[in-house]
Amino acid sequence: MGLSIGSRMKLNNGVEMPIFGLGVWQIPAGATTQRAVTTALEVGYRLIDTAKFYGNEVDVGIAVRGSGLPRDEVFITTKVWNDDHGYETALKAFEASRKRLGFSTVDLYLIHWPVPGLRKETWKALEKIQKEGKARAIGVSNYMVPHLEELLASAEVVPAVNQIELSPFLYPKEVIEFCKKHAIAVEAYSPLTKGHRINDPRLKAVGQKYGKTVPQILIRWGLQHGFIEIPKSSRPEHIKENAQVFDFEIRADDMRALDSLGEGLHVAWDPTDEP
Ligand code: NAP
Repeated sequence: MGLSIGSRMKLNNGVEMPIFGLGVWQIPAGATTQRAVTTALEVGYRLIDTAKFYGNEVDVGIAVRGSGLPRDEVFITTKVWNDDHGYETALKAFEASRKRLGFSTVDLYLIHWPVPGLRKETWKALEKIQKEGKARAIGVSNYMVPHLEELLASAEVVPAVNQIELSPFLYPKEVIEFCKKHAIAVEAYSPLTKGHRINDPRLKAVGQKYGKTVPQILIRWGLQHGFIEIPKSSRPEHIKENAQVFDFEIRADDMRALDSLGEGLHVAWDPTDEP
């Protein structure tokens, strides 16, 4: 299928987003985040997923600048946190994120969570931010079908991306189908189940067939489904291992077997019942 670490997918507004990147949630701010991002960029990662909530936007900016890569080669996502909802507050939160990152433009700005109450006003702020060219694309995270339906009913801009928890063990087909229908790219967070299923014997057996580790199988499964994958690691050896997923292809029968592992496993948060 010809995927490579440099592959990008065209979002619904024409912006091209890398299909593979590094998530930096729970990587301690400071040298640890800077080291992880630097390693990832050296290995060939071109997407970094951070958030105000992660507390390490500053370090992402430092590492990206330190890499010497042209700014437009690295795609940076950050997110508006739950206590920054509302039109004016979200605009301010964006400016603060932009300042911490130290870049004039953010590639993708997401609503982190569908907080009830002000989220429609927050989306209006994101639309303005995009219109002014400060974010190249805008999107949402943890939005399930009812949240997306509500948003689409009043939005001028259809979200480019919905970042949701996704792995063979949590494979929410309804929201994935909805996103496909509306040309919203699906980005998989916690693709390694935060480690909870990396000793699963069924995954190990699939890995053995291809000479690959369980994390590599999990990432490749998501890529072959067309999801954007952002595994997190702070360890150089894992960062490298997780990128070795472009030299093999999981066969259709093994993909089907992996698809059938769904057990509704949430390892982060579950937004299903968020009103
Ligand atoms: P994850 O990527 O599923 O798993 C990370 C865990 O797996 C860490 O404990 C990491 O440990 C370990 N790991 C990584 N590579 C490994 C390897 N090759 N072998 C063994 N263990 C390995 O978890 P996640 O951080 O929750 O999700 C990824 C990213 O998605 C986050 O960093 C964040 O950017 C995003 N996210 C977004 C939301 C949201 O609400 N929008 C929620 C959760 C996550 P080491 O660091 O020791 O390698």
